Amino acid sequence: MHATQTPKPERAFPVRTEKARCVACGADAPRPYRAGMYRIGATSFDLVRCPCGMVYVDPRPDAATLGAMYDDPDYYTDGYNLGVETQNYFARKDELLAHYDRVVAEYERETGLARGSVLELGSAGGFFLEAARRRGWRVQGVELSPPAADYSIRELGLPVFQGLLEAAPLAPQSFDLALADNVLEHTTDPAAVLARLRSLLKPTGALIVICPSYVNSPYFRLMLAVERLVPKSLLGPQTLRLLKIGGADNGYPYHILEFDLSVLRRLAARAGLKVERVERSVPLPAHLFKNSRPSLTQRAQRLVFRALDLGMRLGALPGARVRLVLRPVLRPGGGA
Ligand SMILES: [Zn+2]
Repeated sequence: MHATQTPKPERAFPVRTEKARCVACGADAPRPYRAGMYRIGATSFDLVRCPCGMVYVDPRPDAATLGAMYDDPDYYTDGYNLGVETQNYFARKDELLAHYDRVVAEYERETGLARGSVLELGSAGGFFLEAARRRGWRVQGVELSPPAADYSIRELGLPVFQGLLEAAPLAPQSFDLALADNVLEHTTDPAAVLARLRSLLKPTGALIVICPSYVNSPYFRLMLAVERLVPKSLLGPQTLRLLKIGGADNGYPYHILEFDLSVLRRLAARAGLKVERVERSVPLPAHLFKNSRPSLTQRAQRLVFRALDLGMRLGALPGARVRLVLRPVLRPGGGA
């Protein structure tokens, strides 16, 4: 049905690994969580859990291997979010621009900010930034993946720095709003990333952080416990891939960290950020929700996702995704 479904030859690059420690508390006391979660060629990667609640890949790909993973021109077409989405990221340009127009409007409402300067870390193809620019914001992107950064510069004419945040030449306290949408789980030092983003914010600014939290949630732990009992033929391969169980191919270890809300709260506090708002939700998967002729079991799955999302948004259930609105903690005297 789609080009992304055809098997492609594995891209060859040297795979090296290094020992990781818990980025949330610094401990090195890993307990087994999920063996063989990810794979690059013949190298398989395990998830472990720290007593503090953090889940992470250990050993993890070293810096050069991580760099090679993001140099992959297929990252945003084959590897990106296809558990949830069924369509190539760049092919969704119009849909995403319309979606991000609503998102920017929502951020404006909840932060009281408008038409200021916005920084997006992990700006991908630039669709959020383009939507913000059309609403009158001055925009700046930082993106590690060369093909994605090139696209946003070439096709949309956006100011995007290709590389790591710590290397980006950005002035302190120069942004009203910063966004890290599905970024922190890819980094090796999220506390440093949060501190750097905070230093780039004006004292009146806001930082919005969105992270998946399903893999470090009771939902995934329940799935692991009952994996053998899950009726695989009933759920179908797409839902199994989404749930990351049943021998699903989870691809490269792009998510080297798995947060939950309490870990994120601790990291934010350490970076001098206070939590102003928390939103819990579950991503609604395209194969269920953008399907004009869903089967009976898919209709049933839709109901389950809708009910879970409602329960999460009401705060009655842990999130499979969390979104935090953070503000700089002001030092005595009012400065950031
Ligand atoms: Zn820990």
